[in-house]
Amino acid sequence: MKIGKEMISAQEIDDKLAEMGAAITADYRGKDLLLVGILKGAFVVMADLARHIDLPVEFDFMAISSYGSATKSSGVVRILKDLDQEIADRHVLIVEDIVDTGLTLQYLLKNLSVRKPASLSLAALLIKDGVERPPLDIAYEGFHIPPKFVVGYGLDLDGKYRNLPYVAEVEGVD
Ligand code: 5GP
Repeated sequence: MKIGKEMISAQEIDDKLAEMGAAITADYRGKDLLLVGILKGAFVVMADLARHIDLPVEFDFMAISSYGSATKSSGVVRILKDLDQEIADRHVLIVEDIVDTGLTLQYLLKNLSVRKPASLSLAALLIKDGVERPPLDIAYEGFHIPPKFVVGYGLDLDGKYRNLPYVAEVEGVD
């Protein structure tokens, strides 16, 4: 496997995050917003998106492990790190790097909604098209991409390439 061509440039990502941040700012003005980033992948999106949100947001993180091979999600999710904070009566926005099968987000929505937040919404930078998934209402969407394995901007291949400032395809993944 090797890193293929750039799919989304750093500039395109920043422009998109600025749009998403503006929409979030408008929607949550006057509300107390908690951003929940899903580690490890979403830490880059979270940092850059949050700086385009013009509100006094708070941050929390969950770490999730999805069983399966390096490049395919299995849908079986284990919480490695739970939230530090209670979310009852808070406005919560889950920030995810990429939605593939949607199983991780489906699990998280179920897990967090029983804690009775005031609202629970989703933001995702990348959404893979052409993948069958449960219906998910993603309020803040970045880019729709073909169903290829990608790296960079927080996304890894065997733990590496998360620091690429752009999103790239990986060659040699079926
Ligand atoms: P889902 O549960 O939606 O199938 O998968 C979500 C998680 O799988 C993402 O948060 C990410 O960690 C991982 N994932 C899905 N597709 C890709 C991909 O193309 N590249 C990388 N590096 N990780 C992916």
